[in-house]
Amino acid sequence: MPFQLTKEQQMIQKMAREFARKELAPVAAERDQNHTYPGDSLKKMGELGFLGMLVSEKYGGEDMGTVAYSLALTEVAYACASTAVIMSVHNSICCGSIEKYGTEAQKEEFLRPMAGGEFIGAFALTEPEAGSDPQSMTCSAVRDGDHYIINGTKRFITTGKNSGVIILLARTAEKGSHGISAFLITHDLPGFAVGRIEEKMGQCASDTTDLLFTNCRVPASRMLGREGEGFVIAMSGLDAGRIGIASLSLGIAQAALAESIKYSKQRTQFHQKISDFQGLRWMIADMAMEVAAARLLVVNAAAIKERGENCTAAASMAKCYASEMAQRVTGQAIQIHGGYGYIKEYPVERFYRDARITTIYEGTNQIQRIVIANELMGNPKRQK
Ligand SMILES: Cc1cc2nc3c(=O)[nH]c(=O)nc-3n(C[C@H](O)[C@H](O)[C@H](O)COP(=O)(O)OP(=O)(O)OC[C@H]3O[C@@H](n4cnc5c(N)ncnc54)[C@H](O)[C@@H]3O)c2cc1C
Repeated sequence: MPFQLTKEQQMIQKMAREFARKELAPVAAERDQNHTYPGDSLKKMGELGFLGMLVSEKYGGEDMGTVAYSLALTEVAYACASTAVIMSVHNSICCGSIEKYGTEAQKEEFLRPMAGGEFIGAFALTEPEAGSDPQSMTCSAVRDGDHYIINGTKRFITTGKNSGVIILLARTAEKGSHGISAFLITHDLPGFAVGRIEEKMGQCASDTTDLLFTNCRVPASRMLGREGEGFVIAMSGLDAGRIGIASLSLGIAQAALAESIKYSKQRTQFHQKISDFQGLRWMIADMAMEVAAARLLVVNAAAIKERGENCTAAASMAKCYASEMAQRVTGQAIQIHGGYGYIKEYPVERFYRDARITTIYEGTNQIQRIVIANELMGNPKRQK
């Protein structure tokens, strides 16, 4: 498939690159070290339109298309993966789901301010006992007049603390995927609290939290989509989300490759630049090949989504390959830096840690392979 970026896509990519390298890159290490939420930068990103990239103009968004969005996200991740994951969940899953499934009133109340970056969206699917198998969730929503009463715990929620709205998946009927519904949760609801904030290996400037629901009363008007439609909403959101995580992984790897080339041209051993050793040049060539291959998968998935076609397999392939590629490439980047790669003074140490989660969140890569195989071959028959 020949692919050429449009002039507009190239312009958005350039704008995102300039912003990310000027605004995010200089403070990324410090924010990672101090676990500082990038609220100031997100505000600026909202003003520049980065937080409503997929939202239609009718609701105050930029409607730039998935390819342009993916390019921008890669640029943000190149500079700061923590900011990129917040941007990804907000745009891909939250804005996308509210625009697709929300009522007019919900779009006015939530989508419009989200598109302008007034507040950030989070997505709460995972529970302590329900990760790869979200259908086993136990968080419950029981109808009580014109409210639902929610009880349960959500785990590992990106921007759980700093979000303005959270798409919550909870059980409205006892069994199966049709028993799951989606709700729009705000922090002011009685019975809702943010639980523990995780200490993580990487992406430390983004908060990852438990969400606690104890007889939390949510107005029935806060249901997103119809009762029982939550699982479909979550899966459709994750298709988009996986293109986001693939774009993010690509950005981290590109940064690791660039730092490796730069360092190898500075470092001298055996009276010559290490960039002149063939062993190292081949490592760089392999890294560049892998980055280029991932870029094609990512742009392909984004283009399929943008055309409105089924992107499930393409999104999972892009996420799976790009995230594993990012781990290999960031690992090689450390190797090229030698001992200095292991030291926090050099950014490749952070890239390596930041890349590690990408094969796990938004569905582990084992789950991506199941999704890809099911799309190709249908679901396996289970023995009774
Ligand atoms: C930093 C971070 C941010 C996150 N952000 C969010 C968020 O914003 N919202 C949200 O809802 N969740 C979020 N998550 C949760 C994340 O999506 C889950 O951790 C992930 O889906 C895996 O679930 P689990 O951790 O329970 O692992 P498990 O499901 O317990 O998996 C453990 C291992 O078993 C494997 N496995 C499980 N089932 C199968 C199978 N059928 N075949 C083969 N292997 C299998 C897995 O691949 C994995 O290797 C986040 C997690 C982290 C760490």
